[in-house]
Amino acid sequence: MTIGFELLARDGAARRGRLATAHGVVDTPVFMPVGTAATIKAMTAEGVAATGARLVLGNTYHLMLRPGAERIAALGGLHKFMNWPHAILTDSGGFQVMSLAKLRKIGEDGVTFRSHLDGSAHLLTPERSVEIQHLLGADVTMALDECTPYPSPREAVEASMELSMRWAGRSRRTFVERPGHGIFGIVQGGVHVDLRLRSAARLTEIGIDGYAIGGLAVGEGQSVMFEILDATAPALPQDRPRYLMGVGKPADLVGAVMRGVDMFDCVLPTRSGRTAQAFTRHGVLNLRNACHGGDPAPLDPECRCPACTGHSRAYLHHLCRCGEILGAMLLTAHNLRYYADLMAAMREAIEAGRFADFAAAFAGAQTGSQQETGG
Ligand SMILES: [Zn+2]
Repeated sequence: MTIGFELLARDGAARRGRLATAHGVVDTPVFMPVGTAATIKAMTAEGVAATGARLVLGNTYHLMLRPGAERIAALGGLHKFMNWPHAILTDSGGFQVMSLAKLRKIGEDGVTFRSHLDGSAHLLTPERSVEIQHLLGADVTMALDECTPYPSPREAVEASMELSMRWAGRSRRTFVERPGHGIFGIVQGGVHVDLRLRSAARLTEIGIDGYAIGGLAVGEGQSVMFEILDATAPALPQDRPRYLMGVGKPADLVGAVMRGVDMFDCVLPTRSGRTAQAFTRHGVLNLRNACHGGDPAPLDPECRCPACTGHSRAYLHHLCRCGEILGAMLLTAHNLRYYADLMAAMREAIEAGRFADFAAAFAGAQTGSQQETGG
């Protein structure tokens, strides 16, 4: 194994661990801010690190098209390019190809598509995806998979999963082992437990550094997602990290950690920060709402982010109403801090053996008890 993972504590199915990468140690469970185009939108790299983040996600699809993986490699790699000294996980590009690219065609070899930027033609194979991620210098490389549309007939889900497993084997064989770098495979199989278990078994045979669970949070609903996690997580090797891709809302994170997931990514905290939405211990607030206009109180008196330590809700409301860039910057910083603090609190609860109490208290506090009219 080329990337270290140490399990420090367990509480029920919840796990407290430590990932050792070439760019530092990452405490798990961890949330990864999404840095689509070599930037966490509206944040400086220093600002991202100040939220507590030590692992961010980069998007292969976007970077291969602009500015190009070879150019980033020539400039010293993605860490240097974006001035991020900590760890980076890159996705395989598969998800964005399916969601953004035009005229895509999937075959055994890979996927051909046209760029959403300029219409140029590209072929993304498992080998090319791993090569691009190598050029970027990712600490964690993701195997190329097909993101099965939801809902799909069972036969289509099965064929798609089998293709993804063949691609995972090719990705694994292409991956160049270096200390502190690893490759993760992705469990697919839709909402079918037997397909999920077969996929998990295939990946275990291939032998990879970490196990992602893909194709969830695509419209199946939280209870179905949790059922799939309940069935899938126990089938994955205990001594390797598990990553639930593209998830999610704070309540999804708590529920998934309870079921044994270690890693997450989602655009929700950053995207919400650009649309005046703020995550708090009591639920989501919309800073555009008039009730905040005269409120001198901070967003959250216990939060240590720049928005909460330096500004009132009234000021944040004013910035959001005026469409000021600083409003997006401050709320993104706050939301990432909220997510980082939530993960830290979960790690602490697992270590203390009181995760069930933590989860119950979290659910109780998130019931919307804080009315936006109250402040
Ligand atoms: Zn804050």
